[in-house]
Amino acid sequence: MIASQNTFIKIPTIILFTLTVILFVFASCAQLDESIIPYDPPGATTETRETIPQHKRIIGAGSPKVFIHNNFDGARFNDFYHIAGDTFAVVIAPENAPINNSAWYAFHITTEEARQITLRFKTENGRHRYHPKLRFHPEGEWVKADSSAYRPGPSQNTAELDLFLDEAGITVSAQELINVAEMTEWISYWDSYSYLQTGTVGYSHEGRPVPYFYLSESPDNEHLIFIFGRQHPPEVPGTLAMKAFIERMLEDDHLARNFRSVATVIGFPLMNPDGVYHGHWRHNAGGVDLNRDWRDFHQPETRAVRDHILDVMENPDARIYYGLDFHSTSYDVFFSVDRSLPSWPENFADNWLDGIRLRLPDYELRDDPFGVAPPIVKNWLYNTFQAGGVTYEVGDTTDRDLLKAVARAAAASLMEEVLEVYKNEFGGEF
Ligand SMILES: [Zn+2]
Repeated sequence: MIASQNTFIKIPTIILFTLTVILFVFASCAQLDESIIPYDPPGATTETRETIPQHKRIIGAGSPKVFIHNNFDGARFNDFYHIAGDTFAVVIAPENAPINNSAWYAFHITTEEARQITLRFKTENGRHRYHPKLRFHPEGEWVKADSSAYRPGPSQNTAELDLFLDEAGITVSAQELINVAEMTEWISYWDSYSYLQTGTVGYSHEGRPVPYFYLSESPDNEHLIFIFGRQHPPEVPGTLAMKAFIERMLEDDHLARNFRSVATVIGFPLMNPDGVYHGHWRHNAGGVDLNRDWRDFHQPETRAVRDHILDVMENPDARIYYGLDFHSTSYDVFFSVDRSLPSWPENFADNWLDGIRLRLPDYELRDDPFGVAPPIVKNWLYNTFQAGGVTYEVGDTTDRDLLKAVARAAAASLMEEVLEVYKNEFGGEF
C-alpha cells in the first residue's frame, strides 16, 4: 500500500516537474525571441504585402513660402503643412504597418526668403526615434542638430526642430544619409583593390541590383566568412560599422595579408536596395522584413543570397568560420548564437569577442547569445551549416569614432582567430 501510494505521489510529481521544465524552457525561448522581435504580430508571414507609396514631390507652404523636397534617393516625408506663424508640420509615416519603430525621415528644406522656422515632426504608426542630423551643403559633413534647437515630445510621436533657413536650404535626416548611390560608390571603390571583386547576386522587387563582393587572395573559396548588411534601411550606424570592418580587412598589414591568403569574405552589403531608396522604416518593396524571411524565402532578395551561398557550399571542402549581420538598435550589442549549441570552429565566438576586449579594454562589450529559432540570417547559417554567427548591433547614438574603433578591433580579432583555426587544422606559418 505504502509503495503504491508512493508511486501514486511520485508519478504526478515527475510529470509536474517535467511540465515545469518544459514550460520554463519554452517561456525562456519565447522571451528570447521576443527580445529581438517584439513587434512581430502573431502569425505574421513574409509573403509579399502591399506598401503605401511615398509620393516624391516638392510641397510649398506658408508665407514667405517654405519648400520641402523628397525627390531624391533615401528621402522620406509623407506630408507637410503650415500650422501657424513660423511653425510647420512634417508628417512621417511607414511603408505599411504594423512595423518596427524605426521612423526614418530625410528631406531637403528651403525657403524663398531667409527665415527662422520651427518644424514639428508628427510620426504615424510609431514613435519619433532619431535625433536629426543636418547637412548645410550637398558635399558637406553631417552634423547632429544642436540640442538647444531640438525638443523631443510633448508626446512620443512628436518632436520640434528650430532651423534658420535660406534659399540654399538644409538637408535634414534621421541619420547620416547613406543611400543606394553612396553605397554603390563605396562598393565600386573597394572594387579598385585587386583582392576585392564585386558582382550582382540578384535583383530586388523593383529591379535594383543586390550586390555581392568577394574579398580574398586565396586560390580557392573554401575558408569562408559571410557578411550581410542593410536588411533594415534606417540602420546607418550598423552600416558605418560594416564599412569600417570591411576596410580593416582591405589593409596592407601583415595580419590582413595573411588572412586574405587563406580566407574568403563573401559579403552582401546592400540586401534591401528598394527599402533604402524609398526611405523605408524596415521593409523591402514587398512590404516584408527581410530578416524574418530566412525560413520561408518568399522575397527575391533573400532567395538570391541564399541560392548564392548554397552554390558556394556545394564544394565539399568549403567551410564557414563565421557570419556577421550588421544592424542598429538603441545600444551596442552582439546577439551571438547560443554557445551551448555545437558549432565549428569550436569556441570561435568566445575567442573572437575576447580578442575585441583585449584590444579595447575600456569598451563595455555586451554579448547576448540566444537560440536559433527566429527566421533570421544568422540562424539560417546555423540551422543549415552549423555555423556560428552574430547579429552585430550598433547603438543609434553610439559615437561614430567609437563604432569604427570597435569594428576595426572586431575585424582584426576575427582575422586573427580565423588564422589560428586554420593553423591548427591545416598547418601553415603566418
Ligand atoms: Zn535591424
